[in-house]
Amino acid sequence: MSPSQSLIPVTPGSTIGILGSGQLGRMLAQAAAQLGLKTHVYAPDRGPAFDVSTLHTLGSYEDEAALAAFAESVAVVTYEFENVPAGAAAILNAHRPVLPAPDALAITQDRLSEKNFLSGLGIAIAPFRAVDDAQGLASAIAQLGAPAILKTRRFGYDGKGQAMLREGADLPAAFASLGGQPAVLEAVVPFAREVSVVAARAGDGSFSAFDVCENQHENHILSLTRAPARIGADTATAAVAMTRKIMDALKYIGVIAVEMFVVEEGEGASLRERLVVNEIAPRVHNSGHWTQDGAVTSQFEQHVRAICGWPLGSTRRHGQIEMRNLIGDEVHRWRDLLGESGACVRLYGKHEARPGRKMGHVTRIIGP
Ligand code: AMP
Repeated sequence: MSPSQSLIPVTPGSTIGILGSGQLGRMLAQAAAQLGLKTHVYAPDRGPAFDVSTLHTLGSYEDEAALAAFAESVAVVTYEFENVPAGAAAILNAHRPVLPAPDALAITQDRLSEKNFLSGLGIAIAPFRAVDDAQGLASAIAQLGAPAILKTRRFGYDGKGQAMLREGADLPAAFASLGGQPAVLEAVVPFAREVSVVAARAGDGSFSAFDVCENQHENHILSLTRAPARIGADTATAAVAMTRKIMDALKYIGVIAVEMFVVEEGEGASLRERLVVNEIAPRVHNSGHWTQDGAVTSQFEQHVRAICGWPLGSTRRHGQIEMRNLIGDEVHRWRDLLGESGACVRLYGKHEARPGRKMGHVTRIIGP
């Protein structure tokens, strides 16, 4: 707790603050409402969370007075995206607890600090080098070899801020194509699958993970999540243990998503699975949307419970689950999907179905 922060108990009827007005904020607000809470969404742009929150404020993350007034109107502040500016997080945290704490934001909004943090915990990540200029890129690629992936340290998502560099690539042009920003170069991990762990930790250290799920991307955007992931039981246990280690190290409160690659080594009876952490999202995550209709407690409700200091809910799965995103024009199938028995359709209320835009998702229980 920061020295000037006022701690007020959170009970049904209290208001929680959410930074960001996208679909994650919307689903957090909906989950909060189901537990008798009110929500106040603060964002610089009007988004789908505004339609379902009790209060909303359109304000910039630089407007200190507006941020302070927002914080004073709520019991606790959380966020739906990791790029909350450090200054805004500090102002809010001086009034009310910001959860997960600003330290988690600072580490995870910079790929280099996230990688150093993970390595410090002894968690396997892809071999990488920090790259600050085109010359640095040349020496990084000489060390890691090609192909390799150049990623900006900050503000990357859904494959944005990334470039695949193959043998003979024009390195100065590649560096310039990402805006000449500080970056990291990562070796390509020859993964068999991508999985993620969505888990919650509460202030008393209690921890609860949903079953490890498996993710398929199309054009760098999540397309399909399967729960459970098709991995060995030992691998799943190791993935959850790694996630807990990360959360304990951060004294984390709330829901986290840890994305990992599963690398297969050996063959037949000697086949082994090895985990390599790709990245951490300090928030609810698209790969956890299946929990809304596929588990006893959704990731959104779990996050609300954790930040309110309430008991965590059961993560029991209702069966074998598939969650498909509705991207861009795919949302126009809404009428057919609603007519399909057993399809749980969630639409975000976005007006324009631009290509690559996440418009909704469908969850199906496909087996026992
Ligand atoms: P990211 O924005 O880091 O989550 O990367 C987006 C997607 O790019 C991942 O989900 C992977 O499919 C792919 N990717 C990222 N980094 C690597 C890597 N080091 N090796 C192989 N594929 C990667």
